[in-house]
Amino acid sequence: MTDSEDTKLITGGRRKEWTHGVVNPPVYRASTCLFDSYAHLRERIADPSAKQLFYGRKGTPTQWALEEALTDLEGADGTMLFPSGIAAVTTAILSLVKAGDHILITDSAYEPTRTFANGILQAMNIETEFYDPMIGGNISTLLRENTSVIVTESPGSLTFEIQDIPAIVAAAKANGTCTVTDNTWATPLLFKPLDHGVDISVEACTKYIGGHSDSMIGSASAKGEVWKKLSRTAYQMGHMVSPDDAFLTSRGLRTLGIRMKAHQENALKVAAWLKDHPMVESVLHPAFEDCPGHDLWKRDFKGSSGLFSIVLKTGDYPDTATMVDDMRLFKMGFSWGGYESLILPSNPTHCRSAVPWQAPGPVLRLHIGLEDTDDLIADLEDGLERYRLRVGR
Ligand SMILES: *Cc1c(COP(=O)(O)O)cnc(C)c1O
Repeated sequence: MTDSEDTKLITGGRRKEWTHGVVNPPVYRASTCLFDSYAHLRERIADPSAKQLFYGRKGTPTQWALEEALTDLEGADGTMLFPSGIAAVTTAILSLVKAGDHILITDSAYEPTRTFANGILQAMNIETEFYDPMIGGNISTLLRENTSVIVTESPGSLTFEIQDIPAIVAAAKANGTCTVTDNTWATPLLFKPLDHGVDISVEACTKYIGGHSDSMIGSASAKGEVWKKLSRTAYQMGHMVSPDDAFLTSRGLRTLGIRMKAHQENALKVAAWLKDHPMVESVLHPAFEDCPGHDLWKRDFKGSSGLFSIVLKTGDYPDTATMVDDMRLFKMGFSWGGYESLILPSNPTHCRSAVPWQAPGPVLRLHIGLEDTDDLIADLEDGLERYRLRVGR
């Protein structure tokens, strides 16, 4: 019998040989691992992929427990951990490319992913082309013989377009091209990229999986030959994660299910209130019809999380200071996915090249935390009134 997802979150990675009987896998700190004999040393060297103590950089039961739990949730053969979400994104791409290749990245990608492509990949003579996130199966028109990777991110950072991942994967497979999905918004609870044929699923565990705004960590999960390439590349790059961050992330994982349900419910309430506000032009939330790809979200996702954007009717970014400087509960900060609500003026204009961003007013990205939604709405109501007085409407 296979356990349901809620149960897997509780039991994942808690092998007795790793916990020695305590509930959560403890923090094992190690650089040097000691061998009993020459024969023991030879045995440990023989299978470098085995989860056996060998050298601190290959991890300890603290990291293996988290890897195993994530591998199971993603439906993968294995998971590598990284010191940040962006290290997971960049290493996933690196494991699939070589000099002279062409790759495709969605125009809605997380900005540091774009920076990596325009920096390190370009210096390696790998050409990146940014594409319209709504391209769907027409991505086949952009595929070349040397297109090695398509990077998707659904929904897109800041603007929340949902991509047609199954159509993109079908076009990629027909061309012998690999696919990588940045799945941070959904987590494997709401969307499982590998089940839709994606080759590498990346999560910035810094966000919902850790869930408490106090650790930096990323993961990349894959199957078969791609898993071998990914794990080899990550090891060669020297990536590893501190046992403390792995421990905190394992601990966060136990409550991911109930936290995601609460983020979803709170965000839907706040977003519904914002949608009717006279200063709000549109709500960019995949569960709302204004959001590009809303039908694809209904088809492919199991729910929504707590991050979305609103477009204001009028005004400009400096005007938002009157709103965001004096919020009582919504604080300004980049990394989201913790229990606290956040607000961030986020102008997509400078991180778009395929499809220029156009909107009548500024974009505010909101993360809805676990506070009482009436309190959150009151805070937004006051903030939007300050903004209205400022822009004179
Ligand atoms: C935050 C984020 C990342 C990067 O994670 P870090 O741990 O901050 O490096 C990658 N992708 C998306 C979509 C993110 O929101």
